[in-house]
Amino acid sequence: MNQRTPLIAGNWKMYKDCSQAAETAKTLLELTTGVKDVDIMIAPSFASLYLIGNILKNSDIKLGAQNICHRKEGAFTGEISASMLLSCGCSYVIVGHSERREIFKETDDNINKKINAVINAGLIPILCVGETESQRDAGDTFKILDKQIESGLKDFFADNLKNLIIAYEPVWAIGTGKTATDEQAQESHKFIREKIEKRFGKSLAESIRILYGGSVKPANIKQIMNMPDIDGALVGGASLDAKTFSEVIKYK
Ligand code: PEP
Repeated sequence: MNQRTPLIAGNWKMYKDCSQAAETAKTLLELTTGVKDVDIMIAPSFASLYLIGNILKNSDIKLGAQNICHRKEGAFTGEISASMLLSCGCSYVIVGHSERREIFKETDDNINKKINAVINAGLIPILCVGETESQRDAGDTFKILDKQIESGLKDFFADNLKNLIIAYEPVWAIGTGKTATDEQAQESHKFIREKIEKRFGKSLAESIRILYGGSVKPANIKQIMNMPDIDGALVGGASLDAKTFSEVIKYK
């Protein structure tokens, strides 16, 4: 058994207005009272961060953001800074989600700068990596993971990355209902851990949490969590309903 505390993180994407988000957060708090040995995080839209931050205050559910701007402040219309996220009560930031990479054309270089901003602010980064279906079909999965990690973490040292979390999210499994098989997920997680070891050493490789993301739901979480290199899940669709998400959280 490893010493890594599992993390179950919910990504609410661009769903829920403020009152819906508040309602879901309150219900989730009730349904997860007494849950032990699992870290829980939810990432609502920017619009409801402050509100949800107040609801979660002094609770065991942590607040996360879905994105961040790499700059500290300035004339960057539509962006959000690390200090703004901290002031809402955030402790985690999702960086490089495949929807940001694909739809909003974020590059590994942008992602590298964002990780830097997150770490400098004392926030916890969740770096998302993963291959598309055509990249998998072409046999390029490991090549893609290697590149995303190498470039995303360029110029960092093990000491800066103590809190880093990586989410392996095969793009073809996100929001599609298709889940990677346990073996496919484990193989990629193992590759990622070995990559971290080669690049940053054994100690970070052993402590880093690597989450799986891609159509995780109550029916498949338990078997996914049985894999030795899977330390939690980043959950989209199944995190939107408090009861369903609480069942994922209570997978044990
Ligand atoms: C995600 O958005 O990170 C995700 C994994 O979504 P879903 O669980 O809906 O596939």
